[in-house]
Amino acid sequence: MKWLGMFFLMAVAVATSPATAVEVSMFGKTKDGEDVHEYVLKNEHGMTVSLISRGATIRQIIVPDRDGKLADVVNGFDDVAGYEGEGNQYFGNATGRVCNRIAKGRFTLDGKEYSLAINNDPNHLHGGVERSLDKVVWNAKPIETKAGEGVAFRYVSPDGEEGYPGKLTISIRYVLLNDKNQLRMTYRAETDKATPVNLTNHSYFNLGGEGSATVIDHELKLEADKYTPTDDTLIPTGEIADVAGTPLDFRKSTRIGDRIEKLTDTAALGYDHNFVLNNQSGELALAATLKDPKSGRVLEVHTTEPGIQFYSGNFLMGQKGKGGKQYAHRSACCLEDQHYPDSVNHPNFPSTILQPGEKYEKTAVYSFRTE
Ligand code: BGC
Repeated sequence: MKWLGMFFLMAVAVATSPATAVEVSMFGKTKDGEDVHEYVLKNEHGMTVSLISRGATIRQIIVPDRDGKLADVVNGFDDVAGYEGEGNQYFGNATGRVCNRIAKGRFTLDGKEYSLAINNDPNHLHGGVERSLDKVVWNAKPIETKAGEGVAFRYVSPDGEEGYPGKLTISIRYVLLNDKNQLRMTYRAETDKATPVNLTNHSYFNLGGEGSATVIDHELKLEADKYTPTDDTLIPTGEIADVAGTPLDFRKSTRIGDRIEKLTDTAALGYDHNFVLNNQSGELALAATLKDPKSGRVLEVHTTEPGIQFYSGNFLMGQKGKGGKQYAHRSACCLEDQHYPDSVNHPNFPSTILQPGEKYEKTAVYSFRTE
């Protein structure tokens, strides 16, 4: 009778557990011998997202086109060595502690000068060289929420790591929604010393499928009337300028290739600019709409952040990625929602300084549909 009761309880537990569950598998080992796991999320509308614990990385986003045909629309690699190699230009990685550039790797906070690695001569880029957030293995836990299944990533960056002050505890939750093709990303961080924080995800999108020839035929709309002009090393001058009358005017949906050549002779070699979003309220709002007229796939980026870096993959160099696909110059683009570059050195920009006792919070959503 006792066994029968237990059997009954187990049967009920199986019957009431969610229809789907996060698939967890071993992805590989880092060169230092650390395990990297992969987490696969699926919903009932044909969307699959795969995440890996090195760099809290989005490795795959598989979504249908207008005929229901599935394709993976982000750059990535098939193994850990790919992510550790020279070909990885932050593909799908969580990026920080401070994403984007800090002029000459220097800033002053509470009267103290800090000096960070110069890894994008003459500047600091995306949090450093060895222990930036894209390169460390995050603690990861599958989660089941009412909205959908996901993964909670956590990383504690010790005081002084990559030259940044304060012990920073960071969590990122990725949830694939059940009822829509949406990936929701919630970021949180706390520190024990004042420190700059600016986190983003560095996914490279080609809505025709990763490895397709180019994104110059994609159309882009940005909810931004202004941008931050830069010097020749892509550091903001501090000015906030109108996009009107420049190749950066994406207030109406425009083919990326229409004006890109006007920027080819600049240091950016194309688009690599921070746009000042019209929504500065900190509430979640639409920032960017990217369309591929051929496949009909549309990506919308919503964010609580004040800026978005639109980067047209100008430095992609034909490296080999998933399934041996080649990622050629301008074959994918990034829409990195964030605070403005080099904010630590520009008091007129929204502050990136997190104080002890404060909570850093940010939400971003990638939504996919077809037209
Ligand atoms: C930057 C680019 C850089 C790329 C890869 C982007 O966020 O704006 O200039 O080449 O990241 O590092």
